[in-house]
Amino acid sequence: MISFLDIHKINKPYEEAFQNKLKQVMDSGWYILGEEVKLFEKNFADYCKAKYCIGVGNGLDAIILSFLAYIENGHLKRGDEIIVPANTYIASILGILQAGLVPVLVEPDIETYNIDAKLIEEKISPKTKGILVVHLYGQLANMDDIIGIAYKHDLLIVEDCAQAHGLNFKGSHTRTFSFYPGKNLGALGDGGAVITNDEKLSKTIYKLRNYGSEKKYYNEYIGFNSRLDEIQAAFLNCKLPNLYSDNEKRRLVAKGYLSEIKNDKVVLPKVENFDDHVFHLFVIRCEDRDKLQTYLLDNGIQTLIHYPVPPHKQKALESWNNWSFPITEKIHKEVLSLPMSPVMTNDEINKVIQILNSY
Ligand SMILES: *Cc1c(COP(=O)(O)O)cnc(C)c1O
Repeated sequence: MISFLDIHKINKPYEEAFQNKLKQVMDSGWYILGEEVKLFEKNFADYCKAKYCIGVGNGLDAIILSFLAYIENGHLKRGDEIIVPANTYIASILGILQAGLVPVLVEPDIETYNIDAKLIEEKISPKTKGILVVHLYGQLANMDDIIGIAYKHDLLIVEDCAQAHGLNFKGSHTRTFSFYPGKNLGALGDGGAVITNDEKLSKTIYKLRNYGSEKKYYNEYIGFNSRLDEIQAAFLNCKLPNLYSDNEKRRLVAKGYLSEIKNDKVVLPKVENFDDHVFHLFVIRCEDRDKLQTYLLDNGIQTLIHYPVPPHKQKALESWNNWSFPITEKIHKEVLSLPMSPVMTNDEINKVIQILNSY
């Protein structure tokens, strides 16, 4: 069986390094916000060519805390509208809602799956104050147009980069990351981070993640407990140096798929520029998606669906259920994620191609 993502195989080469780190953290006697978190924050800020990195509990909190920091600093207020793609993982939308802001959904481009920049301006109202960009599946959204629109309407941009570690980003916006185990840079548990060049914002987030406090027992904000774990930061410090080469391997898998998969029933993703994609996922479309998924499974290939139900059709967002986003809905009905990881062998890649071509 070719698994969709063999996380054990991804982490296996680090086993000894992880054990050394575990012992080191254990022996230090300091398990929350210690040297490893500080080191990772420095390493990841450098990696992202940004000034500040704040380690937080997970990717959802990274979004919530970023927006709340903009509110605390007076750049946003509760009830402001934030543009967000209708076609995203629900966490993007929950991050806006949990900060007391109002998501305004915009349809994606059917070929890239990312937000369709041409449709943003018609959704802008006097209450619109920001855009949460999502680089879905690891592909850079249309930033040139989005940055132009944001500039024209004085909107702030936050980027949900939970699927886009190592991407060549454009512009200097606040960016949020998740280190959930299956992401391109994954921990052995939950983790997240915010990257920003805004010193004041970074200070507010450092406090918000830790009870709103900088000085122990003195609380400046109604804060949270959402800190990147010391031991997870230690593991991430082991893995970060290989993120670049891991993403290169993902690109090779994608290049193989894109050049060799030839089947009229299968729509391949449109990749405008390989340098602007880190292939967190390789997502094809097929009208009889469920049948194709069963066929692949019967032939020893595990696939997943990202995602089966769009956010506006979720029970949690019941009052949105009658909204209509036909492109988003079509994508959710037709997408299928092929096996994709930096540890796939050539034989595995070739088998996926061959089985798909014979469907
Ligand atoms: C994974 C993911 C998140 C949330 O990350 P967690 O660490 O699981 O909270 C947010 N946005 C997108 C697009 C994601 O894929």
